[in-house]
Amino acid sequence: MTETTTREINCVLCKDTYVPVLGPQEGEKSYRIYCSSCVNWVAVGRTNPLRLSLRIALGLRDEALSLAIQTCLSSCSCGSKFSCDAGSRCQTCIEKIERETKSPTSGNKDFTNPWDKDEMKKLQPKFLEYILGSEEDNENVNLKQLIEKFEAGEMGAEEYMEAVESLQFRESNQVSVVQAWAMTMDPEELFAAVEDYDLVERYGSRIIVSIATALENSIGRPVLTTLNNEMGQFDQVTQQELRTFMRKIGGGF
Ligand SMILES: [Zn+2]
Ligand SMILES: [Zn+2]
Repeated sequence: MTETTTREINCVLCKDTYVPVLGPQEGEKSYRIYCSSCVNWVAVGRTNPLRLSLRIALGLRDEALSLAIQTCLSSCSCGSKFSCDAGSRCQTCIEKIERETKSPTSGNKDFTNPWDKDEMKKLQPKFLEYILGSEEDNENVNLKQLIEKFEAGEMGAEEYMEAVESLQFRESNQVSVVQAWAMTMDPEELFAAVEDYDLVERYGSRIIVSIATALENSIGRPVLTTLNNEMGQFDQVTQQELRTFMRKIGGGF
C-alpha cells in the first residue's frame, strides 16, 4: 500500500529532483511530514484513524490524502506549516541540516497534539454522516445472524468465512471513522455526543475504549484517565465492562 506519485519537484537547496512524501513506505509504520522551514517533523502512523478515515469516508487517495492530512496539522513551533514536500527541500538536504544542527533536544520532534482544531472540525459532518449512514448495514447483517444462517445450513463454510471477514472489515472501518470523528470533537463535549448517537448501543462498550485510545494518540490524554472521567455517565453493564477492561490493562481499581 505504498502511495506514489510521479510529481517530481526541484529541491531549492541542491536543485536535484525529488518526490514529496505521500505516505508510509512499504513495511514502514509511519511517515514523517517535515516543517516547511525548519527540521521539525510530525510522524503520522499508517493506522492513524484520521488517515484511515479520510480514505474510508472521503475516498481520498495518494496526493489528495496526504494534502488533506497536511492541512489538518497545526503549525510548527517555528510558526511555519508542515508540508509533504518539506518546503521544497529534498530528504538528503533535510538530513544534512539535521546533522549540522543536531542539538540535545533534536530527535523525535513529534508533539503531543499536532492537529489543527478548526481544520479537524470541518471534517466532523463527513465522518458523522458515514457513521450514521452505516446503520443500515449493521441491521442487515450481524455476526449472530451469520452464525444462525451457517448453523441452519443456509450457507456453506466458505461463504460464511467470507461474510465474517467482510463484516469484520466493515466494522473495523467504522471504528476507525468513529475514532477520527472523536478526534475532531471538543473532548469536553465528546462523550455526551457518544450518548446522543447511541454509539455504545451500536458498537458495544469497546467503542469507548477505542475512542479513549484515539484521544490518547491525538491529545495525549491517557486511556485510563478518560475512562475514569467518563465512566459515571454510562449504564451499569457498560461500567462493569469498562472496569473489567481497566483491570485487564493493569491500571484499574
Ligand atoms: Zn536537496
Ligand atoms: Zn518549523
